[in-house]
Amino acid sequence: MIQLIRGFKDILPGEVELWQKIEAVVAALFQDFGFHEIRIPIMEKTALFARSIGEHTDIVEKEMYTFPDRKGDLITLRPEATASVVRAYIQHKLYAKEAIQKFYTIGPMFRRERPQKGRYRQFYQINAEVFGVAAPQIDAQLIIMLSTLLDRLEVKNTTVHINSLGCFECRPGFKAALKEFLGECQDQLCLDCLRRMEKNPLRVLDCKVPDCKKAMEKAPVLLDYLCSPCQEHFKQVQKLLNIFKISYIINQYLVRGLDYYNRTTFEIQTSALGAQSAVAGGGRYDGLVKTLGGSDQPAIGFAIGFDRLVEIIRQNSEIQKAGPDLFIAALGETAKTKAFDWLINFNLAGLKTEMEFSQKSLKTQMKRANRIGAKQVLIIGENELARERVILRDMSTKEQIMIPISNLVEQVLAQFGLKGEN
Ligand code: ATP
Ligand code: MG
Repeated sequence: MIQLIRGFKDILPGEVELWQKIEAVVAALFQDFGFHEIRIPIMEKTALFARSIGEHTDIVEKEMYTFPDRKGDLITLRPEATASVVRAYIQHKLYAKEAIQKFYTIGPMFRRERPQKGRYRQFYQINAEVFGVAAPQIDAQLIIMLSTLLDRLEVKNTTVHINSLGCFECRPGFKAALKEFLGECQDQLCLDCLRRMEKNPLRVLDCKVPDCKKAMEKAPVLLDYLCSPCQEHFKQVQKLLNIFKISYIINQYLVRGLDYYNRTTFEIQTSALGAQSAVAGGGRYDGLVKTLGGSDQPAIGFAIGFDRLVEIIRQNSEIQKAGPDLFIAALGETAKTKAFDWLINFNLAGLKTEMEFSQKSLKTQMKRANRIGAKQVLIIGENELARERVILRDMSTKEQIMIPISNLVEQVLAQFGLKGEN
C-alpha cells in the first residue's frame, strides 16, 4: 500500500472540526482588528525566500523543498508566508492606494526538518501582517490580538516572550561585541554554532544545545546596545502591554530564525508540547519591503503554528464529529423510493440526513443510525406505507411520534424548527 510522505499528515473528519472552529474564531477576531484575508500561492521562485529569509538561515540552508520545474527554473514550496505577502503587497502596488494594509492568511507551509511531535514537513500557519505602521502601538495591538485569540480558544499555560533586536543603526555594534565574545568561548560551542558564529552570530543566542546555552549566559545583552529610538520604541510597547494587562517575559535570547526581523520580536511559548515550545512567533521587519523591491514601508507580523495550537487544545477538549440530524430507515423498494425523495428534500432544506440505500434489516439500520450519532430516525416499512404514517424516533429519549405521509417533509422540518421550500 502506498502511504503518505514522511512528515506529512491527513487531517481527518473528527479532527477537522477543531481546525474549522479555530479558523472561525481567527477570522472573526482578526477582522474585528481590521485584517483582511489574502490568499497566496504555495510555490514561489526560490530567490524570493533566499533573499528575504536569508541565505544563512536554517530554513534556506537545509529545510526548503526546492525543485527545478520542467524548464529548469528553481521553485520552492513556501516555508513561510511573510515573503509571499510582501511580494503581493509590492507586485499589486497595494501601498499606492493606502500604505497601511493589514492581511491575514491561513495555509500549509513546507520545511524538510526531522519529523516529531509538533514538527512536520507540511504544517499549517495562521499569519497576520501589517504594512505601513512604524508606531509601537501596532506592535502592542498585534500581541494583544494574539493573546486574545489564545484566551478565546481557552489555551492555558502560555507565556509571551518579547525582545528587541535593535535596528540597522545599533545592531552592528552588538553583533561585533557578540562575535568577539563567541571567539573567546569557541571551545564550548556546538558545531552548528561554530558555523553560525561567522555568518549569523545572533542565532547562537537561541541554540538549544545545553553547553551553548550555558556559554550564552555570559554573552553581551542586546538590550544594552539599543540606540535611543529603539529603546524608546521597546519601552512604549511594554508600557502598552502593561496597560492591557498582558503579562510577558523579556527574553534576551529571543532572536528568531529569520534574517529580516528588527526591533520588537515576540514568541508565545507553551510547556504543553515538550521540546516544541513555540506556538507562535513574530516581529517587526521594517526593511523587508524595500529589500524585495518595494517602497520603504515599515512592517510587522506573526505566524501561529496551527498544528501545535490544535495539539494543545485537543489535550483539554473533546470535539466530536457531528452526527446527522436524521436517519431514514426504510424497508422495501417502495419505501426506499419514497425515502430517497425525502432525503434529497431534507438535504436541500438544510437538515443533515442520511439513509440506508441497500436492503438491510431494521435492526441493522437502527444500529448504523446509532453508530453515526443520528439524533432522530424516521422508520418506514410496508406497514407504515399501508397506514400512511411513519414513526419518528428520538434516539436519546427513545420517544416516538407518528407523522402522516401527506406533507411529511414540512412536518419533519417543523420538528427541527426548519421550514420547507414550497
Ligand atoms: P521552531 O523554533 O519550533 O523551529 P521556528 O522559529 O522555526 O519554530 P517560525 O518560522 O517562527 O518557527 O514559525 C512560526 C510557528 O510555526 C512556530 O512558532 C511553530 O509553532 C510553527 N512551526 C514552525 N515549524 C514547524 C514545523 N516544522 N511543524 C509544525 N509547526 C511548526
Ligand atoms: Mg524552525
